[in-house]
Parts: sequence; structure tokens; C-alpha cells
Amino acid sequence: MRLSRYFLPILKENPREAEIVSHRLMLRAGMIRQQGQGSFSWLPLGKRVLDKVCRIVREEQDRAGALEILMPTIQSADLWRESGRYDDYGKEMLRIKDRQERDMLFGPTNEEMVTEIFRSYVKSYKDLPLNLYHIQWKFRDEVRPRFGVMRSREFLMKDAYSFDLNFEGARAAYNRMFVSYLRTFTRMGLQAIPMRADTGPIGGDLSHEFIILADTGESQVFCHKDYLSLAVPGADTDFSNDEQIAGIVKQWTTPYAATDEMHEEATWDSLPEADKVSARGIEVGHIFHFGEKYSKPMNAKVQGPDGKEHFVSMGSYGIGPSRLIAAIIEASHDDNGIIWPESIAPFDIGLINMKVGDAECDRICGELYDLFGKAGKDVLYDDTDQRAGGKFATADLIGLPWQVIVGPRGAAAGEVEIKNRRTGDRESLPIAQALAKLGIAAEMGIAE
Ligand code: ATP
Ligand code: MG
Repeated sequence: MRLSRYFLPILKENPREAEIVSHRLMLRAGMIRQQGQGSFSWLPLGKRVLDKVCRIVREEQDRAGALEILMPTIQSADLWRESGRYDDYGKEMLRIKDRQERDMLFGPTNEEMVTEIFRSYVKSYKDLPLNLYHIQWKFRDEVRPRFGVMRSREFLMKDAYSFDLNFEGARAAYNRMFVSYLRTFTRMGLQAIPMRADTGPIGGDLSHEFIILADTGESQVFCHKDYLSLAVPGADTDFSNDEQIAGIVKQWTTPYAATDEMHEEATWDSLPEADKVSARGIEVGHIFHFGEKYSKPMNAKVQGPDGKEHFVSMGSYGIGPSRLIAAIIEASHDDNGIIWPESIAPFDIGLINMKVGDAECDRICGELYDLFGKAGKDVLYDDTDQRAGGKFATADLIGLPWQVIVGPRGAAAGEVEIKNRRTGDRESLPIAQALAKLGIAAEMGIAE
């Protein structure tokens, strides 16, 4: 992508409404535009990140055996009357009437709708386990929308719903999602810690919030320092092996970890002082087993091996991709701007032409631009006539992992400068070496 043709509305000034760094940087880097209270448009740079985050979420949901669907945002109130939640949900639900005066709502979540789909088709335990998920916009009329996309009213959510014959099956389904979440967040460069969460009237211990430690987090959290060094399961994890998956969950739930709602002072006090991590946290995901809470009132049953009908045992599993992006920035930035983890960076490389119009700079940049494309790299080519200082500031602000800087002096000597955004290391290298550093095969070189 050529910056001269791109839409990147950078803000020079710090927007006054932004209280936390991620909100400030997302506005300044031209990622989002506020449209109303807790409502945001995603501009091209932001949309690229959102898509990359969703791609990782999808890949890990699919790996764990979940199947993607897409349900509508607008739902009928009648469905929610079946479960009894239409009256219970309260003011967070945006209620709407259609032209026939029918009660509708903008979905804050989809348990009812997915249960309706399930009961319409699935009749036998032989079709289980089943886990259906979608990535769809939600609306919750939050009391205090704030911090940009961190707590907005309209936000993107991946919500998965599992259906099993009995509790044993539901627990295995829960464990698969648990492990899938560990992998999902790690792939985004985040250390997310699963913490026991309230199960309310459902009881049991199958509810975890996945928390990123960050000073701007809304909750107070407590955990053992072992979490900071636990190994996350690899891509070869066998999700069909219930025992192995349960083993990983056990390992990740044994050290102490709780949000302030679930905090137990006595257990905490018994830990050695040096092992305690007490910090602020951002909730980026929540998994929850709720058994027959919806299947019973909504009559979602399957025939079991015993020939009898059983209400299915369910769980739901949420991740907020839009909130995640803010959380990633909270965890990864410096005074100059965002520092994207490579897996979700909007572009892999920022190619900076220091002197547009200089024949050699233009030629080298043009050839590198084509080459990066062929090598499968996403590249943003700054071919604008802005002065060098401005180009560097923009590149640092939008936080692409690598900058490749082509100036007249280096170009004449067949060299370019490459800068690693995270470490800040810069070096001038012959073009072939610079390419090697970026992981591009030697035979793909250009004329120097
Ligand atoms: P919170 O306690 O932060 O309000 P929640 O418990 O209401 O979250 P869930 O219903 O479990 O959240 O939703 C699943 C995920 O959706 C959350 O983990 C979070 O990542 C995301 N999410 C929830 N509410 C919002 C919001 N207002 N803005 C952005 N993302 C949200
Ligand atoms: Mg909430």
C-alpha cells in the first residue's frame, strides 16, 4: 500500500477526550473514529488490525473443533421471553420496535438464538459434541462507556456455545475452549492469565476470566508469579485427547489466581510474599459453563444412549476482539507510539523514502516495494513528500514491526537502514543483508 493513496488521518495533538494511552494512540494513529457515545468506526489501519485479530481467534476456535456461523444482530424479544431473560437483562439491553410494533432487541449476547438453532436440528447424542461460534457486533448500553473501544456500547465479540449430552462432555468442551484461549492470546503477543470467576447460582468452578495485567485495567487481580512463566501449549496440541487437555487446564488452574470478586484473603496470605503478584487487569475473555440454564426453559433436548431425552449441557465462551486491540496497545507501546506484535501488525514493514524525487531512492523503494509484496509481506510505502522527521514520527506512531529507510546517501552506496520498532535498533546494511534480516530469501534480491 502506498501511503500517498492510503487513508491514514494522523492526529498531531493528543485528543483531550482520551484518558488512557490505548485510546489516545488509536485516535492519533487514525485507527478509529468516534461516532457517538461508545460507538466507533474502524478506519483502514484499525480495520486491518481487527481482521488480523479475528483471524487468529478463528484459527484457534477451528483448531479446537468449534464451527463458525453468523447470527443476526437484531433479535426477537420472544426468544428472550422463553428463557426469561427479556425482563431480567435490564437497561444494558437496547430494545427496539419494528414497524409492526413487535418487540425486538439488538443482541448483547446470543445464548437464546443459538439454542433455538440447536433444538431445531439436533435430536441425538450422536451429533454431539457441538460447538458453534460467531464473530458479530454486540450492543450493550453500558452505564459508563469509556476508554474508547475498551468499554464501548457497540463492540465486536467472538461468542462460542457448546452443547453436550452431560456434565462430563460439557467439562471436556470447556477445557478445549480454555486451552484454545491460552493459545489465542499468546499468538497475539499477550500473556493472559485465567482467573476463577463467579459462577453465581450455577455453582461449580467452571468459569474463568482471561486477564491481561495492565495498570489501566478496571479490575484488581491477584495471582501467583508462576503464571508469568508457564509454557503455553503448542500448535500440535491434540484437542481430541480429553485427558491431555484436562491436564493442561489443571496446570493452568493450580496456582492461585483470582479477580477481587473471587479473592480469598486467607489463601492469599498463605503465599510467600515474593510469589504474589497483585495488579490491575483487563478482562479480554470469559468462559462459562451454565449447564441446563437455557436448554431447560427452551426445551433443547437430545436422545441419549439410554433411549431417554436429556436437556443438553451448555457453556458459552466470549472474546472481545475490539477490546483486545486496546489491551494489546496498553501492554505494548512507548512514548512514541504503538509497538505491534508481528502477528497482528497492520503491515509488517514500513518502507520510508526519505527523498521522493531522487532517482536512486525512488528506484530502490519501487523495487523493494514489489519485492516485499512477492515475499508475502504487507508493506506500507511512505512515498509522500512529507519531511523526514514527520515520516519517522508517523512510522513510530503506527508501530509497524520493521522500518526500512531509504535515503540518498545510503542509496548511492547500495545500502538501506532498517529499524526494529520494538528494540529501537537501527543499522545501515547492504540491501541483501537487510533483506535477510527481514527474513526474505536471498535469491529474491534486487539490483543494488
Ligand atoms: P465486563 O465485566 O468487562 O463488562 P462482561 O463480563 O460483561 O465484561 P462478557 O459478557 O463475558 O463480558 O463478554 C465477553 C467478552 O466481551 C469480554 O471478555 C470482553 O472481552 C468483551 N466485552 C464485554 N463488554 C464489552 C464492552 N462494553 N466493550 C468492549 N468489549 C466488551
Ligand atoms: Mg459487562
